[in-house]
Parts: sequence; C-alpha cells; structure tokens
Amino acid sequence: MLNSMRIGMRLALAFALMLALLVAVAALSLSRLNRLSTVTQSLVDVQVQKQYLAHQANQHALTAANQLLVLLQTSDRTRRIGLYQQMDGELDAADLAITRLDKALAEAPTPSTSSEKAQLSRLKALRRAYNDRFYQTVNLIEQEGPEKARQQFEGSTRQALAALLDGTRVLSDTQQQLMRDELWQLRQAEHQARMLVVSLSAGALFLGVLLAWRMAKSITRPVSEAVGVAEAIARGDLGRPVPVGGRDEIGKLLGALRVMRDAISSREARILRLAYEDDLTGLPNRTRLVEVFQALPADTRGAVLVFDINRFSLINLALGQQVGDRLLREIGLRLSPLLEEGQWLVRLWADQFALLLPGADLPAAQSLGEQMALLLRAPLMLDQQRLDVEGTLGIALFPQDGQDAPTLLRRAELAARTAKARRRQWLSFAESGAEPAHAELSLMGEMREALARGEFVLFYQPKVDLRAGGVPSAEALLRWQHPERGLVPPGRFIPFAEQTGFIREITPWLLDQVMAHAAAWRRTGRTTVPSVNLSAHDLLNPGLADLVAGLLRRYGLAPDALCLEITESALMEDPAQALALLDRLAGLGVKLSIDDYGSGQASLGYLKTLPVHELKIDRVFVDGVDRTPKNAAIVRSTILLCHELGLSVVAEGAETEAELAWLGDNGCDLVQGYVLARPMALEQFLAWQPPAV
Ligand code: C2E
Ligand code: MG
Ligand code: MG
Repeated sequence: MLNSMRIGMRLALAFALMLALLVAVAALSLSRLNRLSTVTQSLVDVQVQKQYLAHQANQHALTAANQLLVLLQTSDRTRRIGLYQQMDGELDAADLAITRLDKALAEAPTPSTSSEKAQLSRLKALRRAYNDRFYQTVNLIEQEGPEKARQQFEGSTRQALAALLDGTRVLSDTQQQLMRDELWQLRQAEHQARMLVVSLSAGALFLGVLLAWRMAKSITRPVSEAVGVAEAIARGDLGRPVPVGGRDEIGKLLGALRVMRDAISSREARILRLAYEDDLTGLPNRTRLVEVFQALPADTRGAVLVFDINRFSLINLALGQQVGDRLLREIGLRLSPLLEEGQWLVRLWADQFALLLPGADLPAAQSLGEQMALLLRAPLMLDQQRLDVEGTLGIALFPQDGQDAPTLLRRAELAARTAKARRRQWLSFAESGAEPAHAELSLMGEMREALARGEFVLFYQPKVDLRAGGVPSAEALLRWQHPERGLVPPGRFIPFAEQTGFIREITPWLLDQVMAHAAAWRRTGRTTVPSVNLSAHDLLNPGLADLVAGLLRRYGLAPDALCLEITESALMEDPAQALALLDRLAGLGVKLSIDDYGSGQASLGYLKTLPVHELKIDRVFVDGVDRTPKNAAIVRSTILLCHELGLSVVAEGAETEAELAWLGDNGCDLVQGYVLARPMALEQFLAWQPPAV
C-alpha cells in the first residue's frame, strides 16, 4: 500500500501522522490535567469547606459550653444577660455551621458518604437535645437559682453537651479523614496522569520511529534495487531482471531503467549483428569468420576457400546494382544448404565469399568447390534476365598455408586471383605460387626507395617491321638496377608491385620517362612509337586517361606516338571498368595493344569489341611455330583474323631465324624477339640497327 504511493505523498502522510500523534498526546495530557484540576478544585471548594464548617460547629459549641459553665458560676443577673447574648451568638454560629455543612453535603459534586450523613443527622439530634437541656438549665438558673440549675446541669445538660461536642469532633475528624483520602486520591490521579503522559509520549515516539523506519525502508530499498540494476547495466549485464516497482517515483525510475536496458540490449544486438553480419546477404562477415577460426582447437586442420564471381562488375554495370545485390543474395541462399555442421559461409566483400571448412583436406575442399560450381551453374532468372553465374575458387589449407585467418584468407584470395588469371576454375595456394618468397619480400620493402633513388631503368626491345624493315615501335620493359643484386628482371618485382598497389606509383613515372624519350627521339627524327605495359591495377585507375593526356600535352606528342599494352588477364579483373578506360584512351587517340594473346581464354570475338589497334601473339604459340603444325595453325588463323578486323599483329618471343622466316612468310606485321634483339638499355637501343629485310 505504501509502495503504491508517490514519495512526496508518503512523506506528507508520515509528517501528518506524526503531527496527529503529537496533537493526540497533547490533547490527552491536557484532558488529564483538566480532570486533575477539577479534582483539586472540588477538594479546595468542598472538602476544605466541609472540614472548616465541622470545625466551626465544634468550636462554637465548645465556646457556648464554656460560657454555660461561667453562667452557672455567675450570680449577678445583669452579667448573666450579657453572657446569654454571647451564648446565643455562639450556638447560632454553631447552628449556622451545621446548616451550611448540611447544604455543602447536599451540593457536593461527589455524593456524601452514608457515615457522613449519619454523623450529620446525629449531630443535628444531639444539637436539638443539647438545646432542650440548655434552655432547661437557663430556666432553672432564672427561676430556681444557680444551685438547682447546677444540679440539673450536672444531671443531664453536661451529658448532652459532652455528646454534642463529641458529635462535632467526630464530624470534624471524619471530614479531616475524608480530606486526607481525597488528597491521596489526588496524588494517585496525578501519578496516573503523569504515567499516562509518559507512556503516551513513549508510544508516540515508538510509532514515530516505526513510521520513519518503514518510510525510509520503503524509499531506500527500491532505490538500492534501482542502483543495483543501473550498476548491472553499466557492467553490461543486461540479463538481470529489473524489479517491477510501484506507481511512485522509484517505480517510474525502475520502469525507465527497464526501457533503457531494453533499448541498450536491442542496440547492442544490432551493433553485434552489424559487426558480425553482412547486411546485404544476412551471411556472417569476415570478422565473424576470423573469430570462429580463433575459437578452433589449436591442432585443427582444414581449409579456407575464397570464392569470387566472374564478371560480377559487368553484371552490376549492365543490369544495375540492384540486380547485382539480388544476385549476391541468391548466391548466399544457394550455397548455404551445402554447409555441414561446423562449416561457415561468409561474405567477405563485393562479390567475394569465403568458406571455412574445419577438418577438410584438399580433395574435400575441391569436391565442395565442384558442388558449388554445379549449384551456381543452374541459370538464375533476375528481372526476366537469364544469368549464368560462374566463380573462381582459391583454396588455402591450414595449418600448412597459414595459421591465422587473415593469412589464410589472403592466400586463398591470391590463389583465386591466380586461378582467374590462368583461366582455371580453382587453384590451391600451394599450386598458385602467388606469394613472394623471402628474397622477394625484402625486395618489396625496398621498392619505394628504389624509385626515389632512380634504381629503376627502362630497357627497350624493338618491334621490327618484317615487310618494310625499320623499327616502327619498341616495347619499354622495366628493370631494377639493384645495388647488390644487379639487374633484377620485372618478373621478380612487378607482380608484387601490382599486389601491393605500388604499381600505381611506378606507372606514372614510367609513362613520364617513356614520353620524355619519345619526344627526344622525335626531335632527332626517329618516329619509333614506344609501348608501355599497363597492369590490372592501372586499368582500375580512373585518373590514368587524364594522366596520359597531360603527359602527351607536356611533351608535345601526338597521341598515336604512344602505345599501351594490356594483357587479357588484366582486362578480366574488372572488364567493365577496364573497358571504360580503354574507351577513353582510344578516344584520346592513343594506340592500344593486346598483350600475350592466347595465354588467357579471351576469344577474338570478345577482343574485337575492344578499341584496340594491335594484337601480340603470346610466346608459347610463336615458340616452334615453324615446326609445330598446331601452333602454326593458331598463329596463321590469328594473323588472318586480325587483318580482317584491321588489327596489326606482333609475334612475341621469336628466338630462331626459322621462326622469323615463318612469321614473315605468313604475313605477320611485326616481330619482337631475341632473334632480332633482346631488351636493351636506352643508348644501346638507339645505336641498334635492325637487320636488312
Ligand atoms: P611482356 O609485356 O610480354 O614483355 C615481353 C617479355 O618477353 C619481356 O620480358 C621480354 O624480355 C621477353 N622476351 C622478348 N623476346 C623474347 C624471346 O625471344 N624469348 C624469351 N624467352 N623472352 C622474350 P621481361 O622484360 O622480363 O618482362 C616480363 C614481363 O614483365 C612483361 O611481359 C610484362 O608483362 C612485365 N613488365 C615488364 N616491364 C613492365 C612495365 O614497365 N610495367 C608493367 N606493368 N609490366 C612490365
Ligand atoms: Mg608487353
Ligand atoms: Mg607479352
């Protein structure tokens, strides 16, 4: 009941109760005192008066008796007359006292006792008897003389007088006794009143303390409960139940705490979900996978798979991001049922998914990869569009390929990238050879300084025109003049410059160098067009076209005085973006060349849609082209097709005179190979003369 009241009400009630108690105690004490004073008053007014009147009656009777004795001795009549008057006065006074006593007894607030009444009526009778005897004595004195009167006095009046005196004395004594009794009662009443006031005060004190204690408890207990709950919330213990309070302020506080706890817990759940879940697919995310991996027992073996969707950016670009998002969700839905207990499918980012398979070896991971490919192969219908989804898989095994999730993910990702570049559906990290060896790791660290110190040098390898002779173009190939290791070939550092993104710093430097050379050549009348290799990273750099345009302007070069070589695999990393860049570069008028044609799986049909001018046939087909009919057929048909499409053809890596002759006979436009010249330092290249045709 108390708890359901507001604290303010409770305090007001408590004070009101205390006040009421005080008033009650004061009122009771007052009434007791009043009664005491009434008793005292009656004692003073009545009892003292009664006692006084009884005493008066006795005194006057005594005086009258003495005067009677004197009268009996007095023979002189005139003197006796004076005494008569005095005796009458005394007896009248005694009578008056008795009458007033009678009246006082009748009017007393407390009824007079029966003995009092009996004594008074006896006294009245005695007075009457004495009056008779007295007047008989007085008559005898006057008629027969004092002697006769003395005898009568001795015979009867004395006894009547003695009886009257005794009567007044008894009455006086009785009244005295009564007064003592009343006094004693008064003292008793006073004692009782004091006791009552003391016990009432004690009771009020006790009640007050009890009330204060209850009140304090009714406030402090829920407050400390609320404090406990608040502390638990602060500790993050959100499971602790919040007690249901009353309708008072504390109840409201507890209610607010409950709301706060619920809000915090739902916010925490949301934050946790955001931290561990991918919003788009509802799958767990990378952080979750890392945590799950950390929780695995130390000696667990297993596999981490990274799965990348082919041409995802093309789908995004062509059909819109919404379709892309739905595709990702659909992939999540399709792949999830493949998972067994303890296996995890997460979305890493963009179109990259990962699987954690504790206990799986390479064949098991591979077979799951195949099942995934099968599941994805079933065509997907999105917005009445039929989509054929394919992915590339990279597999890293633990513990051999890494002992922590980030390393394993990185290596599986590298394997997936290499698989993509090699047009393979899947590749294990061990097979991919995708990560730098120790020596290369240290090279990676030195690259930035090498660029600043000018240790990178450009070599040129001529592309010789087989029909007209001359060197219409030359490929710029990067070398690292390392102070300790000597000349480091690009294959040792370019792949890592690409992986780390450092290539973005190398390419602008390289373009600047090459264009400076080309401008210098032009000034001496040499029109050789240098070609620069672009990496996949460069193709994702939206600022590249502006950079090229700026440099062309700066060196006063016509756009077709520069050629850029792009490999198929670089194009495939993000075909849509690469295509956009190629369009811009072609728009500038820069020559574009497809490098290493044939090493990937791009068809000529696809390549013809690109705004390119030249195609370089990969070394693997040129190698032994004069002796290998299959290579010969491929190279021949490629040359024919390219000419049909208006592209010039460069054969890369011709090493023998026979190959060179075959290429010339089969209409190849340009040849680049050791048989003619190796890549050379600038001076050497400028001094070099092509063989006469
Ligand atoms: P690539 O663009 O295909 O360059 C041609 C490679 O074939 C060069 O190797 C060249 O020396 C080599 N070569 C030419 N003729 C023959 C031959 O007859 N026989 C053999 N066995 N090889 C021949 P290099 O200079 O070691 O470059 C390797 C690759 O490194 C290049 O292949 C290119 O992809 C990359 N690279 C070189 N320089 C750069 C650069 O400045 N930027 C970028 N992004 N990549 C570069
Ligand atoms: Mg090249
Ligand atoms: Mg090449």
